[in-house]
Amino acid sequence: MIEIKGLHKSFGNHEVLKGIDLKVEKGEVVVILGPSGSGKTTLLRCLNFLEQPDDGEITVGNTRVNCNHVSKKEILEIRRNTAMVFQLYNLFKNKTALENIMEGLVVARKIPREEAEKTSRQILAKVGLSEKWDAYPSQLSGGQQQRVGIARALALNPEAILFDEPTSALDPELVGEVLGVMKKVAREGLTMIVVTHEISFARDIADRVIFIDGGVIVEQGPPAEILFHPREERTKQFLKRML
Ligand code: ATP
Repeated sequence: MIEIKGLHKSFGNHEVLKGIDLKVEKGEVVVILGPSGSGKTTLLRCLNFLEQPDDGEITVGNTRVNCNHVSKKEILEIRRNTAMVFQLYNLFKNKTALENIMEGLVVARKIPREEAEKTSRQILAKVGLSEKWDAYPSQLSGGQQQRVGIARALALNPEAILFDEPTSALDPELVGEVLGVMKKVAREGLTMIVVTHEISFARDIADRVIFIDGGVIVEQGPPAEILFHPREERTKQFLKRML
């Protein structure tokens, strides 16, 4: 379970998050939609302290922290439980697909190499890349690199995976394979918070859609409601541009 209460974040005098309250249940798939600059990425980055929030309370599993006085230990505990999948994959360029997945298990989780390799190979198979285990990122397509990025997050077995526009850097013909892997992961009951512009993913897979604009949650609800019968004018205008 993830809970965010009263989350605020400014960059200089630009207030980007203006008090976000959000609870995500175990196994829930939440899609966050919103215009460019509305604070979606900042919200994800604050959730695992890649950005330091200015105020608020964050709970991830059994760890609850007050953002005003959070310790390094608490930040590490939250990061352990919130793996991030980035827009630009963020793979180690000098490591193979298998080594990219093993790295977190061996270095952060202190799992013996042999066991880490076994787990990593199983997860590579799950994302359909068994044959590419010894390929370096430069030898993989964008879609394949992102599937390694997802495999790396899955290997850590976190409380939730945070996806930050995972398909927006991909050529259109490669988007489907990444969404396919995300759908598979969602069906397995993982908790997912997904920032995306892929309305079809939100429609087909999300349990809940959240529309953010100007650093606040404007409205939220089941996909059928938010995507096709939004109540708020700002949501209607945004969707008109997207659909
Ligand atoms: P997009 O869909 O374009 O990725 P977004 O909703 O994810 O947009 P954010 O990336 O969260 O928006 O950015 C929200 C605002 O915060 C933007 O105006 C952005 O310029 C600003 N911002 C984000 N990160 C920083 C930073 N490190 N320093 C200063 N301003 C920042």
